[in-house]
Order: sequence, then structure tokens, then C-alpha cells
Amino acid sequence: MQVIMSSSLHSLPWSAQTLVSNFNSPLELKQAHAHLIKTNTPLSLIPPSRIASVCALSHLDFSYAHRLLAHFHQRQIVVWNSCLKTLAESDSPFDAILLFRRLREFDVVPDSFTCAFVLKACTALLDDKNGKIIHGVVKKFGFQWNMVLQNMILNLYGLCGEMSTARLVFDKMPQRDVVSWNVMITHLVKSGDFEGAYGFFSRMPERNVRSWTMMISACVHCGKPKEGVQLFLEMEKIGVQVNEVTVVAVLSACADLGALELGMRIHEYSKRSGFGGNVRVLNTLIDMYVKCGCLEEARRVFEEMEKRTIVSWSAMIQGLAIHGHAQEALRVFSMMIEMGVMPNGVTFIGLLHACSHMGLVDEGRRFFSCMTRDYGIIPEIEHYGCMVDLYSRAGLLQEAHEFIMNMPKKPNGVVWGALLGGCKVHKNIELAEEATRHLAELDPLNDGYYIVLSNIYAEAERWEDASRVRKLMKNRGVKKKPGCSSIMVDGVIHEFVAGDDSHSQANEISDMWEKLLDYMKLKGYKPDTSVVLLDVEEKEKEKFLYGHSEKLALCFGLINTPPGSVIRIMKNLRVCEDCHAAFKLISAIVNREIVVRDRNRFHCFKDGACSCQDFWTTRC
Ligand code: ZN
Ligand code: ZN
Repeated sequence: MQVIMSSSLHSLPWSAQTLVSNFNSPLELKQAHAHLIKTNTPLSLIPPSRIASVCALSHLDFSYAHRLLAHFHQRQIVVWNSCLKTLAESDSPFDAILLFRRLREFDVVPDSFTCAFVLKACTALLDDKNGKIIHGVVKKFGFQWNMVLQNMILNLYGLCGEMSTARLVFDKMPQRDVVSWNVMITHLVKSGDFEGAYGFFSRMPERNVRSWTMMISACVHCGKPKEGVQLFLEMEKIGVQVNEVTVVAVLSACADLGALELGMRIHEYSKRSGFGGNVRVLNTLIDMYVKCGCLEEARRVFEEMEKRTIVSWSAMIQGLAIHGHAQEALRVFSMMIEMGVMPNGVTFIGLLHACSHMGLVDEGRRFFSCMTRDYGIIPEIEHYGCMVDLYSRAGLLQEAHEFIMNMPKKPNGVVWGALLGGCKVHKNIELAEEATRHLAELDPLNDGYYIVLSNIYAEAERWEDASRVRKLMKNRGVKKKPGCSSIMVDGVIHEFVAGDDSHSQANEISDMWEKLLDYMKLKGYKPDTSVVLLDVEEKEKEKFLYGHSEKLALCFGLINTPPGSVIRIMKNLRVCEDCHAAFKLISAIVNREIVVRDRNRFHCFKDGACSCQDFWTTRC
């Protein structure tokens, strides 16, 4: 057949051959058609796919093509499908929908591929109106059993934010596969319905790596890193093969939790599994090591990277800044610029942090102005916060205030908080009062600001004012958020809440503290009860102070970890002045390195000193 056809084609003069196989418009097609009739050559010589593509988009020519195809093609839908596919994947997917309408007008019976290609176009356009029409066609022609189509319909409704319709479709599906469940989970997570997504996840009859990974990432995004890690361990136990997206998700969970041991295990695992060179995995590793207080490892990962992205550079700069290695952060930045990498907004947050930790006001100013001038980056509220912090730490409170007044954006709590912190260190009551007024408005239930203001009054011996603020706190119902610290021992996270004596090792913890206290007092430790804002006896205040969650976690760590090993503690709030002073002494007494990650930064206590060089009290 093939031979006869091609010999027929070759029997035509060369110009006619070109016309028959290479026509570019309906007009040329008609000429070819006429020629074939005249020479009595079979019409089937004309390539049907070409007929379809040349005539698809015009109403008149469509009708002609339809007749022509019907003439020698039994299933002309097959020809149209390839045309629909091309259009759905083109820059104007709406043409696929137009062609589909025409096919319906001419009663060309669609098959499941037809529906798939048109659904693809609807998905690209987020067009649920036409999607609904196709959904109807799927039902009408009995394609409900086609899982691919059903999943595409689910996905389309999900993308268009029609979760209740998606849910309805899901419930009515005659059968479901793992993709159907995954689609539902994806869209529930995206719509912010974590509980709903988890409900689907837990009811899934079978899960694949995608299901697990999605759920782990969802946990991280919803501030539930502990649950994320739990899921990962479960997944590992039942032997699901992990991919690099899973690795990234679980590493982010480790970073949030400060779960260094698990993070290191994942690092090893990713090397063994061949993800060791994946840039996203490596970037997340840098972030994880930085947030777990392991700057050395972060540096090693960064230095060994073959290819770095701006995310890698920014993560390293930020890491160095929050660990107090400001000079090195600036050096890394220069290196990055020399290598021709363009910085982004995150890079500058790291740089400004570094400057503010070193008190480099001029450098900070320079970075702030060059970010827009040289790199076209518009400062975000975080950048303004950093600048106010920089001025405030350096004691340039008037400049800080002026800077806030001239900001093109409405200052937020971080901005005013930075000023308030500076006021505390540099003892400026007037500006502190102003900052607190704004903070009370912006974040009425946060107690940190009131505590700082009351301490500022107390330091200035304005007792009346100090007690007035405390009363205000009480009247407004502002409650101090309980401090909570966690420490990981042998892969288990132990949490301590301030004043908690319910732990199974509570007695040992208390004995350990008493012992440490004796040594500390010999070294001149005096409990700093000014951080306790309660109207109670001094002795009672000391008791509160000694029950701070990080102290409990530290004693627990000293009891349960081998001598000489590093102790790592995470705290939900800022470390208080008293714990800071105590930890410095303890690091020397027990000869251990103690790393504390609090809400703002890292403190690495070693040999009686802290890596922050006590340059930390200015933020509440
Ligand atoms: Zn404390
Ligand atoms: Zn410190």
C-alpha cells in the first residue's frame, strides 16, 4: 500500500508533489485537491494531519477539511487530536478550546484523548468554565472510568480554587488512584487547609513518595516541623524511597527544629543516594547547619559546592552574620560580586545584619543605598528594620527615629522594636515611650515591649512609672508567653517550659542546678532579678529566674550527654540577661560548648564568653 501510494506521489510532477505534501494554507490545499482530482490520483496522498492543522482555525475551511477527512478517514478524531494537542501546548491554548467547539458542532465524536488535550488547555488557562463543559462531555461519553481524565478534572478545579467542586468530583469518582489523592492533598495544602489535607493523607489506601513529601513540606510551611520529622521517620520505617524533594523538605524541618543529629543523618543519606550534588539540597543543608548552630559544617558544604546559586551565597552570608562573623560575611559578599553573581534582597538582609552586629554604620548606610542604586532592589520592610537596628545599636537613636519617620512604608513591630531595644541600652526614656506606644498598637498582646519599657524606668529609678507599666500589662490581660526550650538527646526532643518540675528527672535537674549555682557564685554570679516582673519577694524572684526553660534544658543536657560534647538548645523567646550571664560562666565551669538558638540569633558560649560578644540585648 505504502509502495503504491509513494509511487503514485512520485508519478506526479515535482511541483505537484510539493503542493500535495507541503501546502501551507487552505487555498494551497484546495489547489492540491483539484490537481489530484484532475489527474485521477487518490486523495489519500494528502497528509491528513496537515489538512487538520491548516484548516483547524477557520470556520469555513474547517467544514471543508471535515468533509475531506470524512471522505477517506474513518476515525477523523485521531487526526484532530494531534492538532488539539499541538494547540493545547502552544502559546494560545484557547485555540484548542475553539477547535473542540467546532468538532462538537460538526458532531465529530470525541474520544478520551480529545478530552485530555482540551482539559490540558483549560488547565493552562485556569478556565474552569470550559472545564465544566469538558467535564460534562466526559460524563456523556462514558469516560468516567478514565483515571487520567478524572485526575485532570480534579486538578483543574483545585487550581481554580473550587475545592468544594473538586471534593464532589473526588467523592463521586468510581475509582481513585494515588494521583487522585495527591491532587486533593496538594490543593488543600495550597488553600491553607492543613487539617483537611492531613485528613486525606491519613485516609489514603496507598501512598507514594510524592504523598509523603507533600505532607512533610506542608508540615514545615504550617510551622509544624516536629510533625514533619515524625512523618519522615515513619516513611523511612516502611521503606518508601526518598527523593531530593523529600530531602529538602525534611532538612527544612530539621532547620526549624534545630535537629542537628537527624539533619546530619539526612546529609549522609543524600550523599549515598546521589543527591549530594543537587543545588537545592546543598542550599537547604547550608541553611540547616546554620540554624542548628553548626557554622563549620555550613561553611564546608558551601566551599565544596561545584555550582552555587544566589540562594547559596545569601544563605552563607546570612549564616555568618547571625553567628557573629560579620567580617567574613562581607568578604563572602565581595567574592560573590567578583564572580559576577547578582545579589538579591535576601543577600542585603544578611549584609545589613552583619553591619549592625559590628556597629559598622557607614558600611550599612552604603549597602542600603547601593542596593537600589546599583542593583535595582527596592528595600522591603525587613531592610528598614535592619537599618533602624543598625542605628539603634550604635546609639544613634535620633537618626533611627528620623529614619523611621521618613520611611515610605508603614513601620511594623520589628522596626519599632529595634528602636526600643536601642533605647534600653542607650537609656532614652522619651523615645522608648514613643516606640512602646506604637508597639502596643501594632501588637497589643505582646508583652516583650512592656517588659523592656518597665525595665528602662526601673533602671532610671522611676519606680512609679515602672509599676504603672506592669499594672497596665495586667489590666490589658497581657500575659507573658511561657518560655520553652528544647534539646535533643539520642534522637529524642525534650521540651522544657519555664518553671516546669514535672519532668521525670526533675530532682536530678534541680540538684545539678544547685551544684552549678555554688560554683557560679564563687565566680561572682549574682542573679539578675530585674528580668522578673512580678511583685514578689526577692527570694521568689530568684526561684522564677532559676526555673527559666533554658536553664532546665541545660541541666538536663549536662546530665544526659557525654562530657566534652557540645550542648545545643533551642528557645522560642529571646534568652534573658540572667541566663546569658549564667551560661557564660557555666561554659567555663563544665568546660563545654553550649549553643543556644533563641528567637533572634545564636549564642555560642565557650570558655566563659559568648560569640555575640554581649551585643544582643538591643532587641526584644
Ligand atoms: Zn532566662
Ligand atoms: Zn550571647
